[in-house]
Amino acid sequence: MAVKYVPEPFRIKVVEPLRMLTREEREKRIAAAHYNLFYLKSEDVYIDLLTDSGTNAMSQFQWAGVMQGDEAYAGASSYYKLIDAAKDIFGYGYIQPVHQGRAAEKVLLPLFLSEGKFAISNMFFDTTRAHVILSGARAIDCVVPEALDPSRRAPFKGNMDVEKLEKLIREHGPEKIGLVVMTITNNSAGGQPVSVRNVRETAAVCKKYGIPFDIDAARYAENAYFIQRDEPGYADKSIKEIVREVFSYADMFTMSAKKDTIVNMGGMIGVKDEKINEKLILEIKSRCIEFEGLYTYGGLAGRDLEALAIGLYEGLDDNYLRYRVGQMEYLAAKFDDAGVIYQSPVGGHGVFLDATAMFPHIPYTEYPAQALCVELYREAGIRCCDIGSYMLGNDPDTGKQLKADFEFSRLAIPRRVYTQAHLDVIVDAVIEVKKRASGIKHGLRIVWEPPILRHFQAHLEPIK
Ligand SMILES: *Cc1c(COP(=O)(O)O)cnc(C)c1O
Repeated sequence: MAVKYVPEPFRIKVVEPLRMLTREEREKRIAAAHYNLFYLKSEDVYIDLLTDSGTNAMSQFQWAGVMQGDEAYAGASSYYKLIDAAKDIFGYGYIQPVHQGRAAEKVLLPLFLSEGKFAISNMFFDTTRAHVILSGARAIDCVVPEALDPSRRAPFKGNMDVEKLEKLIREHGPEKIGLVVMTITNNSAGGQPVSVRNVRETAAVCKKYGIPFDIDAARYAENAYFIQRDEPGYADKSIKEIVREVFSYADMFTMSAKKDTIVNMGGMIGVKDEKINEKLILEIKSRCIEFEGLYTYGGLAGRDLEALAIGLYEGLDDNYLRYRVGQMEYLAAKFDDAGVIYQSPVGGHGVFLDATAMFPHIPYTEYPAQALCVELYREAGIRCCDIGSYMLGNDPDTGKQLKADFEFSRLAIPRRVYTQAHLDVIVDAVIEVKKRASGIKHGLRIVWEPPILRHFQAHLEPIK
């Protein structure tokens, strides 16, 4: 079924030239990169879908804000502008800027987690899982079962399985659960949204057992758009009202601001209730000083704080969000026509291709999703990333390769960057790879890997 492309609610003022290598050149580049697309030079990539993180195009207002950044070490006006914007949108008493999402995790998570404890999430993102493990605790995913079937179309496939959550809490004992984390949208499950109802029910379980509730908030605006579109009772609420309500159920948030706030660098921690969390906020401030810098800049330049304050509002704009999710819907409809399987319905920040469906003959131990990423680079200079067993890594206790719930090749779409014609190049490349998929007999093997977050650095080779 054809889906009409939602026209851009902006026009282009600055352009960044791209070049396309020949197939032969690409073949050389990917081999030199050890078949790990993180090692490719960006200039050797035609369409870069590695991530939607920090790859956003800023507006003229944000660039103007860059010039107004106050670079004072302490108490910069840009800091206060950011705090006012974030308090206005999220309704939280304390806001701490940090340089990116994982910095928020590094500062906050060890205050709740240590050896012997568990953190439970609808699904941990890779850096969040890593920081849980680095704190000595263990991470448990608890997503609704329909999320695990990419071809099953259901709304809010990012939701927490609330019944299972309560079961897990009882099994381990509430005192062992340091934190419950709700990732919105659920990145690892395909940018799938979480409903207000599910956030409310999860919060109620946390309250019942006295467990702190944290939102991993990278894509809070895209999540609110899906709520407005699909959740009964929310069609007439504004995006900002929906964001407010979602955050009202949690105790705190950690955020990578490199996603929905449409900047290139930034992050935040929020604590809802300033009064009852005085000690926690003091600890956040001291850890921020240790790792990030003074709490009024948190590892960011004044100009970054300024762009972030402006981007917070731009990310909530209805026309922008319709266009943004519209790009995913356009891609998804083309893939439907071609019989390409992806996590459906399509999520908010990319299309997650089901590599198991593309290469049913390649086992998870040969990383089919990474193999598909390599093929898309060969085909059209497209760079995307594995969200599967290759990314998941080894069991921290046994060292054995873990089997991921999915083998996704994620086509993450940067915000306000690529045009309809670029999307058509992506579609054509995926269809071409699908045509020759049965001839690609094997995946890849790892020849070297670091102990944690290996997918950024590992060396691979094709299995002959
Ligand atoms: C990107 C992301 C993070 C980590 O943020 P960085 O800014 O990359 O450090 C954490 N959680 C989620 C859900 C993310 O998407």
